[in-house]
Amino acid sequence: MLLDGVERLCYARRDMAEGFEEDEWAQARQEMVARQIEARGITDQSVLRAVRTVPRHLFVSPDQRRVAYADNALPIGYGQTISQPYMVALMCRELQVGLEDEVLEIGAGSGYQAAVLSRMCLHVYTVERIPELAELARSNIRAAGYKNVTVLLGDGTAGWPEFAPYDGIIVAAGAPEVPEPLLEQVAPGRRLVVPVGDRHAQDLIVAWKEGDQVRQRNVCRCVFVPLVGEHGWET
Ligand code: SAH
Repeated sequence: MLLDGVERLCYARRDMAEGFEEDEWAQARQEMVARQIEARGITDQSVLRAVRTVPRHLFVSPDQRRVAYADNALPIGYGQTISQPYMVALMCRELQVGLEDEVLEIGAGSGYQAAVLSRMCLHVYTVERIPELAELARSNIRAAGYKNVTVLLGDGTAGWPEFAPYDGIIVAAGAPEVPEPLLEQVAPGRRLVVPVGDRHAQDLIVAWKEGDQVRQRNVCRCVFVPLVGEHGWET
């Protein structure tokens, strides 16, 4: 199998992962953005700027660090994953947010997607249902130095009414249908990005309200861990 530059760089240093220098991580990250994200057609400058700067290797578990910039999702414990870099970038593009916007994410996990979003908007609220992962997201985001992210513990299928409406809502887990409370909490004309389907595969849906109508568009097929909660899957 031919290894691409990122993997070569990572595997060559397998036993020395912790010895990676900052500029080596930065180089792996630039290659990730060029080959996995730009090459697949993402040209939105605010997304590219964000994924070029956020240190993904600080958001993966230490034993996965050497493959932090590889082209796939990675386990983060508790049966959950940090999403593939391309999927993070694609969802961020579909959200269409700007620097004045406040965004809600459901499924903080490692905190990586929230960190990327935090570079593109004013404030990110991110909800996580597993207490240990909420703590992990908090500590990863703190370690990376981002101040405009609030990690909340709870069932995000109900959204987070306290700070609603949001200028965009992104769901990082697969739902059986578009959760109604999230539609209620997204500002008129703004977007809800959510994977909808069965437990094994979904369609990435962009939904928005136009008057009292809900419109939606299908972006692509995708695979996410299940969204578990009152307006999601049972377990
Ligand atoms: N955005 C994350 C991806 C995490 S995977 C990252 O960048 O790492 C999806 C996450 O959604 C998991 O951590 C899972 O525990 C969480 N999740 C699933 N159902 C949820 C719910 N109802 N409310 C909040 N979080 C939920």
